[in-house]
Amino acid sequence: MNALEVKNLVKYFDKVKAVDDVSFDVPEGSIFGLIGRNGAGKTTTIRMMMNIYTPDNGEVILRGDKVDGSFKNKVGYLPEERGLYKKMKVLDTLMFFAELKGKSGRDIEKKAKKYLEQFDLKDRMLSKVEDLSKGNQQKIQFIATILHDPEFIILDEPFSGLDPINTNLLKEIILEKKKEGKVIIFSTHLMDFAEKMCDHIAMIDKGKIILDGSLSQAKKKFAQKNVSLNYEGDISFLNSLPFIESINDFGNNTQIQLKDASYSQDLLKALVEKNVTVKQFNANDISLHEIFVQLAGKLEGEVLTAEVPNVQ
Ligand code: ATP
Repeated sequence: MNALEVKNLVKYFDKVKAVDDVSFDVPEGSIFGLIGRNGAGKTTTIRMMMNIYTPDNGEVILRGDKVDGSFKNKVGYLPEERGLYKKMKVLDTLMFFAELKGKSGRDIEKKAKKYLEQFDLKDRMLSKVEDLSKGNQQKIQFIATILHDPEFIILDEPFSGLDPINTNLLKEIILEKKKEGKVIIFSTHLMDFAEKMCDHIAMIDKGKIILDGSLSQAKKKFAQKNVSLNYEGDISFLNSLPFIESINDFGNNTQIQLKDASYSQDLLKALVEKNVTVKQFNANDISLHEIFVQLAGKLEGEVLTAEVPNVQ
């Protein structure tokens, strides 16, 4: 069953179509990633889901019914533009946000302190927000997003600006929330996070959905002719091999697309013959990043072709 269904959303800013017929389903109890590079249309889509922007077309369906004002009370939303009252103290800030959602009292305070402890901020609860580092302010805003225990958690680029330790903490809490049965939607341009955390994804590029659905199914589909290679040596000879479709080299990590999945043994043989040190060779494996490069790259090709003037 789908918790949310986004149907044919369109948003123009003047003549620019920032979101172009975007549709996707968010299943119950899942972590859903809205993935795409800067300017792809993620924030605009989320703002339409949150009723901040009125779509020029399309709608958002919440458990079978059109989203209305009551959605606001069911959702914890971390906006892209972070905004806390700088002069307010940390614990007061958290209590204030909880109260806006109709929650107050000792239980909420206890919970706020528990989260502050989890995020290593308990000794800062009486500090003013403005005295905290940017990353720590972001953690406070994240706690404020989830403190009232919303059914839906919508996070716009939650990991940006966090160091690896805090990123991990955030990840753990998001996974905890999933276990509690919450629906979590986050946007990111960081494919690695999406790959590690999401059950379902929608990939958006230039305002359009280029891939959506279950992450494992997408990986299965795209992995078939793909080999992930970790190596040392010179692999430039691969370009001349007839069974290679494309190579995306990141230095020692390379994604190789074969013309057919059955060529993986030939590839391994060729590498060994040329004295390449093969550290890792994973046939039928593909990263989300590579899927994006393949899809967005193809799209770029199409756009370029479309722009070539039709000279008779
Ligand atoms: P980022 O990760 O950089 O925030 P994004 O995927 O969230 O990117 P959006 O912020 O939704 O992308 O922007 C999509 C497009 O719409 C961009 O071309 C952007 O310049 C444009 N855009 C967004 N908001 C406005 C606005 N208020 N007025 C005019 N153009 C806008």
